[in-house]
Amino acid sequence: MKCSICEKKLKEGEVFYGDEGTYYEDKPLCETCYYEDEPCVTVFYGRDDQPYVISLTRNETEGDFEVEWHSTDPWRGYYEAKSEKYALVNTAELLAYHQSEEMLKEFDERIRELFDEHGIDYARVFARSSNVFYQNYDLYVKKDQALIAKFLVEYILAYIFAYRIANGHRGSLRHVIVFDEATRVFYKKREWRETTLELGMPFIETVPQIIRDYGEGIIFALQEPSIASHSLMANSNVKMVGFLGEGEDIDAITKSLDLSDEERSAMTKLERGEWLVKKAEIKPFLLRSFDYLLEKNVTDKELFERMKPFLKKLSEKVILTTSVQAK
Ligand SMILES: [Zn+2]
Repeated sequence: MKCSICEKKLKEGEVFYGDEGTYYEDKPLCETCYYEDEPCVTVFYGRDDQPYVISLTRNETEGDFEVEWHSTDPWRGYYEAKSEKYALVNTAELLAYHQSEEMLKEFDERIRELFDEHGIDYARVFARSSNVFYQNYDLYVKKDQALIAKFLVEYILAYIFAYRIANGHRGSLRHVIVFDEATRVFYKKREWRETTLELGMPFIETVPQIIRDYGEGIIFALQEPSIASHSLMANSNVKMVGFLGEGEDIDAITKSLDLSDEERSAMTKLERGEWLVKKAEIKPFLLRSFDYLLEKNVTDKELFERMKPFLKKLSEKVILTTSVQAK
């Protein structure tokens, strides 16, 4: 029997066979060729620093991942990881010495904190190509876990942060995020969860505090201010309060806006299109907005059309992008 790679003669008892799903699956190999074949893909699970390698002869991921070679011409190509058990959530090309490396580092850090906070099992997969300066980085999450909408929202925010940091975007406003039903993500109880004690302030709670430094603005819309997180209430610069009927919500706003008894009672008398407005260091005042009558089943597209003339007035540069629906 001969080694399938180096053709060295093999005695009985010293034969190794290629792992299942690899290029040399079930083929006889010598010990050196079996163990020292160059890795095609390296997998890191969660916080585990141990690399799990897939080469043409071995698969240390025990079948979690497999590898496929794609050739782009006779001399060039790249390896691609595949998985039945994990779902791909992000992929990035890594060019050595390129700024993409920095962006990825930043993103990678934040996203791993997020995964840990939500207790989501993830794996990072680095795949080699024929170009030594180029690698592919894939981020996977275990499939049997429900990927909750909240998590995806945070994921997008983390990406925006990483993008702004990598591009050195600081200071003046570049982009505004409109966050409807904000208490689904920014809610009170979360600040005191067990993971907060273990891992410190969750990433999401730092967002209202620091996002403005990165040229991002957020407009939060919410129905129940009494359950909104402290970081949201404390860091929003302008608050517009419409009619409130619930005692707890009235209390929360009274406290947050430091209202007098008279101002407090105004909240229960507001009509549609009327707002109590509070901006830092200015006394609260009343404001009447246009009465936009909208059907409940209005589509995003119809809304875009309707708002276009208004946005044009704000600035020639306003560009609307599609919304993310968290259900
Ligand atoms: Zn060999």
